[in-house]
Amino acid sequence: MSSEVMVSRAKKLVDDGDVEYVNTNGNTHNFQGRGHNTSKDKIYIITGEIQQNNEIAWSCDCHHAQFNDECKHMLACSMIIKNDDSIRIEYKIIEGDDDVVVTVPEVVGKVAYKIESDDD
Ligand SMILES: [Zn+2]
Repeated sequence: MSSEVMVSRAKKLVDDGDVEYVNTNGNTHNFQGRGHNTSKDKIYIITGEIQQNNEIAWSCDCHHAQFNDECKHMLACSMIIKNDDSIRIEYKIIEGDDDVVVTVPEVVGKVAYKIESDDD
């Protein structure tokens, strides 16, 4: 899909009210979109997470987005944000933010294995 087609499809979603802003949780804006055609009853969940550099990381659970970095829903939501001054676009430090995920490196398993083999 060329980006031009994507943009016009996204515009149509916004014009038709088929994507809407739901709420904001911390630095994450939540949206929902309605599907069409065969997936008429399907509701898509689209999230836009404001990064520390004020860029927005989008995600969408539609089929297209599983294989692509962007989809018309994400694009439509970014249009909604641009059009609505009440939606924050700057990163905000949130106290007690538990978004910081402590990742346990995979190495742990290997280290454990190594220790085991040392015992031999
Ligand atoms: Zn999508």
